[in-house]
Amino acid sequence: MASDVQMGGGAGAEAETFAFQAEINQLLSLIINTFYSNKEIFLRELISNSSDALDKIRFESLTDKSKLDAQPELFIRIVPDKATKTLSIIDSGVGMTKSDLVNNLGTIARSGTKEFMEALQAGADVSMIGQFGVGFYSAYLVAEKVVVTTKHNDDEQYVWESQAGGSFTVTLDTEGERLGRGTKITLFLKDDQLEYLEERRLKDLVKKHSEFISYPIYLWTEKTTEKEISDDEDEDASASDKKEGEVEEVDDDSEKKDNEKKKKKVKEVSHEWVQINKQKPIWLRKPEEISKDEYASFYKSITNDWEEHLAVKHFSVEGQLEFKAVLFVPRRAPFDLFDTRKKMNNIKLYVRRVFIMDNCEELIPEWLGFVKGVVDSDDLPLNISRETLQQNKILKVIRKNLVKKCIELFFEIAESSKEDYAKFYEAFSKNLKLGVHEDSQNRAKLADLLRYHSTKSGDELTSLKDYVTRMKEGQKDIYYITGESRKAVENSPFLERLKKRGYEVLFMVDAIDEYAVGQLKEYDGKKLVSATKEGLKLDEETEEEKKRKEEKKAAFEGLCKTIKDILGDRVEKVVVSDRIVDSPCCLVTGEYGWTANMERIMKAQALRDSSMGAYMSSKKTMEINPENGIMEELRKRADADKNDKSVKDLVLLLFETALLTSGFSLDDPNTFAARIHRMLKLGLNIDDQADAEEEDADMPSLEEEGAEESKMEEVD
Ligand code: ADP
Ligand code: MG
Repeated sequence: MASDVQMGGGAGAEAETFAFQAEINQLLSLIINTFYSNKEIFLRELISNSSDALDKIRFESLTDKSKLDAQPELFIRIVPDKATKTLSIIDSGVGMTKSDLVNNLGTIARSGTKEFMEALQAGADVSMIGQFGVGFYSAYLVAEKVVVTTKHNDDEQYVWESQAGGSFTVTLDTEGERLGRGTKITLFLKDDQLEYLEERRLKDLVKKHSEFISYPIYLWTEKTTEKEISDDEDEDASASDKKEGEVEEVDDDSEKKDNEKKKKKVKEVSHEWVQINKQKPIWLRKPEEISKDEYASFYKSITNDWEEHLAVKHFSVEGQLEFKAVLFVPRRAPFDLFDTRKKMNNIKLYVRRVFIMDNCEELIPEWLGFVKGVVDSDDLPLNISRETLQQNKILKVIRKNLVKKCIELFFEIAESSKEDYAKFYEAFSKNLKLGVHEDSQNRAKLADLLRYHSTKSGDELTSLKDYVTRMKEGQKDIYYITGESRKAVENSPFLERLKKRGYEVLFMVDAIDEYAVGQLKEYDGKKLVSATKEGLKLDEETEEEKKRKEEKKAAFEGLCKTIKDILGDRVEKVVVSDRIVDSPCCLVTGEYGWTANMERIMKAQALRDSSMGAYMSSKKTMEINPENGIMEELRKRADADKNDKSVKDLVLLLFETALLTSGFSLDDPNTFAARIHRMLKLGLNIDDQADAEEEDADMPSLEEEGAEESKMEEVD
């Protein structure tokens, strides 16, 4: 951070100049230079910061009352000043130390800075700013200059000032008005933004965006009264109502009623603080009396979301333990849902109406991190600390209840609207699957919320329950295949026999499916069976079928051995397959080892334990299809001459192709490509002699002309 010292700033001390961090600087230019019609959201952002700062000091004061000494009252004040064209937002929150000022307002970029700019450039609305943790900078939507005066208990009063343009200054404030504790943000409004000095506009904005802030928000309100001066100071009661019309809309009982007289009229301008937010917490009210809009604006106020919630559950638990809660499901996943650097938790914890904290990890499990809302407990001690939370039994019970209610809420979405559930599932299916993986108690219930594409589902998704209703007579298990995408698994050789039998197969194409299904193991008493793992047994064979299979097995035993010899350690064993119908062969993995898909996922994880990889991924079994022409021909050649060179070439090529169709990746794609090119040349009758001699010893050589041609026919 560049910092040089200069005189000035008006506060009587030396101003230090700092350069904005590069991304913040970019963000500021974007905010200043791009046209956004929705500028009003700046007020919501600044009030929300004030509210956060008040939460912090209130929380600190729970364990140390003296923290409030410098300013016992907790409030937010808004002061429009037409004379100076400034709008100030003042709070008695925790304030910022000098280093907080430097770090939080300019030199350290939040992770969301870049994401927010990308979102903006992709057409997102500027009102999303709060979600990305850079809400403060929205001040520059309406202001050409911003001055932040702040006093933290642990430091002196400082002034931060910037007109954007690459830098800001920080100055020790020795002369300005004393804050006691807290922060005052003064916006020098742009000339076309003076509407934000109008009381009406400010009141409406607070009502619209900040109604549920749990601290009083006061507006410095101007009142013009016509005072009549008379000699006797008699009151005229009937006239006193006339000029009060304007302020009556505001709930405020402490208004001074100025006397009005009928004689000499004098206009008198007075100011007073008028509270402009209601404060009754929504969760204390009866659910029947709260409208959808009220829930929506409450939801927006606690989350910074610009869209309404998708679903809400408002409930209270009574008995030996009492608490009230409002839980929301958002419409979308946040941009950093699975950002492991950041623990998601969006439940605010209150104890008897007092805000305690908003990222209490003990309150809700990680997989429900996307659920937002508030919990207000009557039983927890007010001075609870993060350390004591961990062992707190009351909290454990609350958590259990919250999980239960969340699951109920998800079922409500599923039952109420297909469209909403589709939206919900698209955004949060990964969380549900994480829940299946982690929450053994609720696993069976959560399984009912899962949806998959399948060989029979078409464009729709199917539930496990619906799958079961479609199961064929005699079908005992539920079949699934895991893979990278629907496209990659849809025509997989593994599905051939299952399809032929009319058995439905679920497509599990999320990385996390692999983990979830590993824990789920069964549904409704039916085993979940992977189509790509060893030991896939399709029952209900007739005696005839069995006999035929045994014969085939015997006939191909020799070939299996030859192939195993050629492939060596590449495969664990080679067997005659039960699951493929058309393809010549496929590669299956051990029942308890990784699938090809899991191997892919693990390879993508940079920090995985490589010894584990070697152990889990080495067990491939090649299954060959005795009904396939290629296999038949191979068998003939191998029987005729065990050392037939063309057999070796073809087996290697089949193995590599099977790796691909079975969902693995090739360790050496170049060798594979060279083999294919050679085949192409043969097919095109190109003489390859010269090229072949240059190729390395490992490369397959396809010698006799006659043999080559017949090979091409097979491959075709
Ligand atoms: P966020 O609110 O998501 O943290 P902002 O850009 O709105 O992001 O604010 C950045 C930071 O500046 C806050 O985290 C806080 O540390 C500090 N800050 C902003 N406004 C205030 C305020 N009124 N009082 C104290 N700190 C504040
Ligand atoms: Mg903020």
